[in-house]
Amino acid sequence: KHTAAPCPPPPGEPPPVPPPARLREHHFFPASRRAHKPSDCQSYEITGPVDKPEVPLPHGVVKEPVRILVIGGGHAGTYTALRLERLLRAAGAPRAEVRLVTPEPYLTYRPLLAAAAAGTLSPRHVLVPLRRVLRTTRLLLGEAVSLDLATRTAYVRTPAGPEAAPVPYDALVLTPGTTPAPPPPHALALHSLADALALRSHVLAQLDLASSTRDPAVREAALCFVFLGGGCAGVDALTALRAMAERVLSQYPGLHRDDLRWVLAEPGERLLPEAPANAGTYASRALRRGGAEIRLGAAPRTYRPGLLVLDDGDSLATRTLVHTPSAVRAPGAPPHPLLTTPALPLTPDGRLRCTRDLAVSGTPHTWAAGDSAAVPDPGTPGATCAPHAGHAHGQAHVLADNLLATLRGEPTRPYDAKNEGLYVALGPHDGLARLHGRTLTGRPGALLLRAHHLSRLPTARRKGRVLTEWAFAALFPREPVALGTPGTEPGEPP
Ligand SMILES: Cc1cc2nc3c(=O)[nH]c(=O)nc-3n(C[C@H](O)[C@H](O)[C@H](O)COP(=O)(O)OP(=O)(O)OC[C@H]3O[C@@H](n4cnc5c(N)ncnc54)[C@H](O)[C@@H]3O)c2cc1C
Repeated sequence: KHTAAPCPPPPGEPPPVPPPARLREHHFFPASRRAHKPSDCQSYEITGPVDKPEVPLPHGVVKEPVRILVIGGGHAGTYTALRLERLLRAAGAPRAEVRLVTPEPYLTYRPLLAAAAAGTLSPRHVLVPLRRVLRTTRLLLGEAVSLDLATRTAYVRTPAGPEAAPVPYDALVLTPGTTPAPPPPHALALHSLADALALRSHVLAQLDLASSTRDPAVREAALCFVFLGGGCAGVDALTALRAMAERVLSQYPGLHRDDLRWVLAEPGERLLPEAPANAGTYASRALRRGGAEIRLGAAPRTYRPGLLVLDDGDSLATRTLVHTPSAVRAPGAPPHPLLTTPALPLTPDGRLRCTRDLAVSGTPHTWAAGDSAAVPDPGTPGATCAPHAGHAHGQAHVLADNLLATLRGEPTRPYDAKNEGLYVALGPHDGLARLHGRTLTGRPGALLLRAHHLSRLPTARRKGRVLTEWAFAALFPREPVALGTPGTEPGEPP
């Protein structure tokens, strides 16, 4: 809602009190954009439930900017900030400032981590520099350690020191994701780009080891790769690394495709718990067709490099255990430490209880999206949206719209879960894309998956680079090379 403030008072009246330094110095737009702003006799404000003190300025009385604080620079947080920027720019209403608290100055685009691990995509494309893509949002590098909902203050620990600094806000957006369970000792993880590169080096090192030993036991363990967790991450990682290993096998004369053993162990009853059952069935079939073993209801009892014992008593000779747990949480799972703030409503699986318009239930001025938010899915009574990147993006979009609508005193709209899809790669030419309740598989699924990632990656330049790389790789396949410390066992010093 735009309101024009009055022009300066007539001569003879007392001069207005000078504004606080913060307001005078604050500019939301670069100089080139400020040149297009309306005349100084007009100022724009966002009114609504957040009540801001009025500040007299030389050209009239305006309210202080509304302070929107986003915690977490992952999929949900980054896309919320991007959408808020766009809406504020389109409305010509710079009277709100957006701050993003994040431990890293980049977004890790996790659905492409497996491609970076397998060398089918340059690692740099998986990291999206936030300072580059967010134009007016202020980045606050650090970790939110606690919240005071009564005084609307977040406490943020920055790299500058151990003391947590207070950061006041008017509206809070919580998107800290979920804390992944720690991997078993000696297992590899796949959560960051560093993990992905270490995993690639490890797999290539096992092929080197197997081709240079005459000991059948060492060779068998080196060529058995076990992935623990059958969610998007596990399915994606196994298919990508298997394709990579098979691509380089011609460089190892003593090794054959049938010598390699790929095992996906899922503690639950089916693969892809984030998706409907038929998607999990399709993924199982596709993986088995490629020669992978699927072990459902299997959890590790003990593991040391060389031997994995499962809790059903079965054992596997392997030097590779990759921990890729699904983000679907079981009742009793510990919540993210920040969400244990008293007065935040939590579901039994440790997520924030939200309404369909993405407000945190019964908590004024507080919103949530992504893996840490339990948002009702009207398609399945009593169910909440599964934790995957599709929902994180879609919820971020609706959250930003609703937050600004609330500030303007306009009605909000519910998040429609069925519009957002799930996309999982099942091989170089196979993929699963679920959109608007329909599932596309095989080559069309793989094409839609790539189109989806291209549409979601921020900035046209990045989209162009990724598209060029994919097109170029179709003509001249990439040659994976170890970028870490091959031969090092996880958990052991290099
Ligand atoms: C290996 C892997 C592969 C995946 N593949 C797919 C796929 O193919 N398809 C799919 O749909 N989904 C996939 N997912 C799931 C998808 O990545 C997540 O659902 C999505 O990232 C959730 O977004 P989010 O913003 O809620 O959480 P995240 O993306 O995890 O972001 C949370 C952010 O909050 C930050 N943070 C945490 N605590 C704090 C704090 N106290 N203060 C400040 N910041 C904090 C974190 O550093 C992080 O940047 C995959 C996940 C993984 C790990």
